[in-house]
Amino acid sequence: MALAATPRVPDEPLRVLRALWQSGHAAYLVGGGIRDELLGRIPTDWDVATDARPERLLQLFPEGRYENRFGTVTINKVETTTFRRDHVYGDHRRPDSVTFTDDFGEDLRRRDFTVNAIGWGRPGDADSAPQPDWVDPTGGIADLRAGTLRAVGEPAKRFDEDSLRLLRAARLAAQLGFEIEPATKTAMVESAHLVGWLSSERVGGEMRRMIATDPPSTAFRILADTNLLAGVLPELWAQRGVAQDKIEGHDLLDHSLATLDAAAVLESFDLTLRLAALLHDIGKPATQADGRFIGHDEVGARQGAELLARLAFPAHQVERVRRLIHHHMFSYQANWTDAALRRFVRRVGRDLVDELLRLRQADNLGSGWPADAGALDELRRRLAAELAAGPPLTLAELAVNGDDLQAELAIKPGPWIGGLLDRLLDSVVTDPSRNSRTLLLADARSWLADFLPAPPDR
Ligand code: ATP
Ligand code: MG
Repeated sequence: MALAATPRVPDEPLRVLRALWQSGHAAYLVGGGIRDELLGRIPTDWDVATDARPERLLQLFPEGRYENRFGTVTINKVETTTFRRDHVYGDHRRPDSVTFTDDFGEDLRRRDFTVNAIGWGRPGDADSAPQPDWVDPTGGIADLRAGTLRAVGEPAKRFDEDSLRLLRAARLAAQLGFEIEPATKTAMVESAHLVGWLSSERVGGEMRRMIATDPPSTAFRILADTNLLAGVLPELWAQRGVAQDKIEGHDLLDHSLATLDAAAVLESFDLTLRLAALLHDIGKPATQADGRFIGHDEVGARQGAELLARLAFPAHQVERVRRLIHHHMFSYQANWTDAALRRFVRRVGRDLVDELLRLRQADNLGSGWPADAGALDELRRRLAAELAAGPPLTLAELAVNGDDLQAELAIKPGPWIGGLLDRLLDSVVTDPSRNSRTLLLADARSWLADFLPAPPDR
């Protein structure tokens, strides 16, 4: 990699740098932005480090927002942080307070990995001010060239200070396609138990980024190889060594990761699908008996949802993953009637059917089978034809509602209304031609006795 004398820096971070230089402050690009630029990747965000204190930053950039107690001011998405040294407390987390410094070298050396400790910039304006240049006290540029992720300083000590660095190592190595330097990796294994100190939100934050890398299995492999998985995702760790009759030599964890990678190839931007693929067999270790896993879909749906909720994934995503896991064992047969197809869609939910078929494709591929094994292509074709007709599949599409039943049948509100509506919908899903108000009210009248309690309550 030839190092450009001047990196290509977008207007916004450049404006921040120039304004700081002109006001007499030292300012440098640091962190992931400059790292990714050097690698020829598109940076997701830009970080600037400066000797200007937060109050001064807010004076210079009135549009800036003071984000946290670490002295980061965000100026139009550019995270601008005052040079600092960290205080180390005993709880293996990031410090609660920091001390500012004027020494940029000190600021770089408190950073986690050498490739994140590269700076480009210069001291503030003065007659003697040099041109902006690279600052690389930890050998980050050489590591970047070699594709090596190396802790700054003594790895075990750095992981002990802040155990989130363990997960950042796994995520960054996966994201960048880097090898973890051996001493850093050894320290990860030895420090793996420290992840127990992390809040589940912080673990979730890293997991969200891990699942989005490509191929997504890499980060989880690193977690497994370093024993970090045991503390972070014990439900997945439990899959190691559980036998599968799918791909020769693959255990259940291998199958989950192969399914995950297949999902990422099938539908690159669907993170919900990736999560469901990773977790679809999460219920197997708890249900295995005599080489079978009866009920693992239901148990897994619950475990998967608990896991994601614990890691603070958004509720709507947790719910979709739960439903996907719950329904992932469907078994299509060519003799399914059209009514059976509609009942299938009603059960799964129209909004989830496509994704469920994708999940099955990924599961098939992760089992060493063709993507459409199990006549999935036929099922897809038939579903498309069936759904094109727009058959009623939900209570909202029924030609009567609860109020109609109460009024027309002169009954009180109660659980019987829901029971009746469900039975009506069953009959309409089986035979859509019954979805007329007259027919449904007649049906409801004749079924009423099955739902109402004994007379005094009427
Ligand atoms: P990305 O933005 O792609 O997640 P990044 O490396 O920019 O990657 P940020 O969380 O934006 O990550 O952090 C910016 C910089 O701050 C990092 O590059 C690193 O230098 C430093 N840093 C972040 N977290 C830590 C940490 N836990 N310990 C030490 N340094 C850290
Ligand atoms: Mg960043």
